[in-house]
Amino acid sequence: MAQAPLTLALSKGRIFEETLPLLAAAGVGVPENPETSRKLILPTDSDALRIIIVRASDVPTYVQYGAADFGIAGKDVLYEHMAQHPGGLYQPIDLNIARCRLCVAAPKGFDYQIAVRQGSRLRVATKYVRAAREHFAAKGVHVDIIKLYGSMELAPLVGLADCIVDLVSSGGTLRANQLVEVEEIRQISSRLIVNQAALKMHGPRLQPFLDAFAQASTQMA
Ligand code: ATP
Ligand code: MG
Repeated sequence: MAQAPLTLALSKGRIFEETLPLLAAAGVGVPENPETSRKLILPTDSDALRIIIVRASDVPTYVQYGAADFGIAGKDVLYEHMAQHPGGLYQPIDLNIARCRLCVAAPKGFDYQIAVRQGSRLRVATKYVRAAREHFAAKGVHVDIIKLYGSMELAPLVGLADCIVDLVSSGGTLRANQLVEVEEIRQISSRLIVNQAALKMHGPRLQPFLDAFAQASTQMA
């Protein structure tokens, strides 16, 4: 009897696109594109693997509960997830894909260095509440964190916040909104995450994927 395929959780967009070469290195092709097919369960050309398409921030949840055997998620997402759900996820490989950096950005005219030095309260809008809170706590800066779910760049422009903590790659979105990067918090890339029970149960089937991904990702570093 044929075994059920392993399930890999991905988000569409850059993580899906940048995972395709890793899958190719493992000998797996994905005939359908999630942007056009609208399917949430994507078959591959291998009976050994299927892909599920979920929100980037939901990838760790699907893997942690075992609904996916493994998945790929940004360190930004993993860091926020781990605050609420410690343990349960094995993170064997930095895949070096979807690279960007987590930054503080502020409107062009805002004197961030002075605001930070004066010990005044800073209002910070972000999706990355844990990372932002820990960053400013380490600097001894008092902050009010305003949790947003997207379009953080807008917040300082309409008086919701003094600055934002967000991901930046080219800086194009910041520039288009008259914001400048004032501090880098950390470099971000995506990691492979594996459900621990799946690794015990399906280790021999999972391992070739882990090996192929690890091998291919060193070429991307
Ligand atoms: P959603 O669209 O579901 O709200 P999202 O905006 O975080 O989630 P994506 O934009 O696809 O989803 O980002 C997925 C992951 O890619 C992020 O968690 C991050 O690790 C990485 N990422 C985000 N922005 C960039 C960027 N500008 N350049 C490179 N990688 C990025
Ligand atoms: Mg996005």
